[in-house]
Amino acid sequence: MAKKNQKIENESDLMDKVISLAKRRGFIFPGSEIYGGLQNSWDYGPLGVELKNNIKKLWWKMFVQERADMVGIDAALIMNPKVWEASGHLGNFSDPLVECEECHERFRCDDPYSPEATRETGAHWLKHHPKIAVGSFKIEEHFTKPKQFNLMLKTFLGPAEEKANEVYFRPETAQAIFVDFKQILETSRQRIPFGVAQIGKAFRNEITPGNFIFRTREFEQMEIEYFIKPEDWKKQFEHWLGEMKRWIKAVGIDESRVKENEIGEEDRAFYSKRTIDFEFEYPFGQKELYGLAYRGDYDLGQHQKFSGENLEYKDPISNEKFLPHVIEPSLGVDRTVLAVLLSCYSESDARSGKEDAVHEKEVTLRLPKAIAPIKVAILPLSKKEELTKPAEEILRTLNKNWMCQYDETQSIGKRYRRQDEIGTPYCVTVDFDSLKDNAVTVRDRDTMAQERIEIKELENYLTKKLK
Ligand code: ATP
Repeated sequence: MAKKNQKIENESDLMDKVISLAKRRGFIFPGSEIYGGLQNSWDYGPLGVELKNNIKKLWWKMFVQERADMVGIDAALIMNPKVWEASGHLGNFSDPLVECEECHERFRCDDPYSPEATRETGAHWLKHHPKIAVGSFKIEEHFTKPKQFNLMLKTFLGPAEEKANEVYFRPETAQAIFVDFKQILETSRQRIPFGVAQIGKAFRNEITPGNFIFRTREFEQMEIEYFIKPEDWKKQFEHWLGEMKRWIKAVGIDESRVKENEIGEEDRAFYSKRTIDFEFEYPFGQKELYGLAYRGDYDLGQHQKFSGENLEYKDPISNEKFLPHVIEPSLGVDRTVLAVLLSCYSESDARSGKEDAVHEKEVTLRLPKAIAPIKVAILPLSKKEELTKPAEEILRTLNKNWMCQYDETQSIGKRYRRQDEIGTPYCVTVDFDSLKDNAVTVRDRDTMAQERIEIKELENYLTKKLK
């Protein structure tokens, strides 16, 4: 049996360990690295793209495929700028920033005088301007007054870089769902209550991106607008609260690190009667993971006003016409990846037998099977052709169903550890006995139990296990 997991005592160690594993094993590495990188941009490598795709697939399966009341869209990243006027993003989508008067570095501060913000600006001052930092540090003497900075990322459509061609990369995926509402309604034959889901990239010119993939300027979202009758909002809000909790569990996020933060009236958008932020205890603090908001009919109302199109819904039974209200579950894909890695990373003392007992700690990524980048590793015990040939044949059969890895280098213990580290649920070992009994050994990542399975039964066996 596996030894009990050891808790990683120091939280900042956990962050370093996860980042180092992500880079070392090709989950996530710095973007544009050979050119010195580009301000907190990150690329998902061969294992990262599998993990991220599996997360998105699981979300789509749970919330679109398995529900008759949901459909999906995939809208353009760049939309008519009027969309952002109507949604309020051009006017209000901003964060307060303060600027260092000495070197003009900028900081995002929701409250510039909060202890958290003063710590950050104070640390900047001490590090970069130590000679001037005499006596006690006062933010108001060394930094500009907070000013609002719009987060929309601008570009030009067409060859002329002039005002008329100015457009914006979408700062969220949600608005396209409202803009396309009429066409979705006409073509999908959905009736209220029903929802529309979208997964895709969003861009925000964040003042201070950072903490690895927690806050970046280019990121992915998975968003739903669930259209309802106004009188049903409380019931539907509770339903989606439950659905978000179900998701958090299914994707492998440690529920004990998730806190629901009920946003008070003073901090809520004026059109929202209820908003809950799901916060995760990251090693760098408790911060937002996801959001759930009841937005009333604000968005459809704004788009109706700005576009001049009637976006009302006509109830097929009562013939009553009204603007549907919405519940909006909003999730970041990258923050999911981060929370999953932090939740599933585990270390234990050597557990793979004598030959390996010398090394210090073994890392196991206890990912739910559904999101593991590689489902099965095929490991011939020796590089001799009599074993590699049947092993390759097994690979060719299994990789029709699942992402597999074939590995014939180094000791079997080391190969198991390489697979544990990337969260592969099953390793299939082909040994010399296989030539006689036409069977292989299947090792389970979590229990380390080994079972002898006939090669002709292997596909069925794994299908059941990976369900
Ligand atoms: P924050 O307060 O952290 O800036 P937000 O409240 O602005 O987040 P929303 O506008 O509610 O975020 O966006 C929905 C989700 O998109 C967030 O819960 C988060 O998971 C993700 N998200 C938002 N901004 C970023 C970003 N810059 N990088 C990565 N993910 C992000």
